[in-house]
Amino acid sequence: MPIKNDGIMVILSSPSGAGKTTLVNLISKQDNFDVSISHTTRQPRPNETPNKDYFFVNDKEFKRLINNEEFLEYAKVFKNYYGTTRTPVIDKLNKGKNVLFDIDWQGADQIKNKKLDYKLITFFILPPSKKILFERLSNRDMKDKLIVEERMKQFERDVLHWINYDYVVINDNLENCYLKIRNLIEAEINNGSKDYDTEYVRKHVEKLTS
Ligand code: ADP
Ligand code: 5GP
Repeated sequence: MPIKNDGIMVILSSPSGAGKTTLVNLISKQDNFDVSISHTTRQPRPNETPNKDYFFVNDKEFKRLINNEEFLEYAKVFKNYYGTTRTPVIDKLNKGKNVLFDIDWQGADQIKNKKLDYKLITFFILPPSKKILFERLSNRDMKDKLIVEERMKQFERDVLHWINYDYVVINDNLENCYLKIRNLIEAEINNGSKDYDTEYVRKHVEKLTS
């Protein structure tokens, strides 16, 4: 059972480009959440700050962390390794801080299966349409058409994991999407009523995968 004063864990996952990083930044700025900083072997993007967006490490260092069993979860995503180290997360939760994770479905599965003694809420973010996803990816990864193509292909596979999450939220208007997540977290914490329509989500997924 979670202890009353412990923090809670909130995971946001999504197919690449749906807007999960944007939402994580918004939630951490507005609400009482610390973002878990992952380790990755991927190269930094021009707008990223080392030790803030990610701990950028080489393959050798990542393998050392695996061998030392320092990861709460780790996975290979798009040819690179990504992982969450255990100690900073557990320290924060024990101090009553809420922790927000921007991790993929493999990491979400691993954390869920650990059944830790902290409340866990998982969200899967979806784009309004494939066309809008393509536009968002093209704007973000402007220089690299190949990356956009690769991530659009990956979308078809990633979207299938929506079923394993507590909530699926559609990121059409950013503010609305943020408020929806925030209200669901509040309702979960306070055992309040939840504004959530499973049938609407199912239909949206059908539209995206047809
Ligand atoms: P992810 O972390 O899921 O890969 P990002 O947060 O990087 O996605 O978002 C992809 C791109 O879409 C970014 O350029 C971001 O600014 C933009 N974006 C995110 N959410 C919205 C939204 N609701 N409306 C319009 N653009 C958005
Ligand atoms: P990006 O390279 O676009 O920052 O992230 C690519 C994917 O890796 C995203 O789906 C992101 O959520 C995921 N990711 C980032 N950090 C971690 C992590 O620590 N563990 C796992 N499993 N996935 C991560």
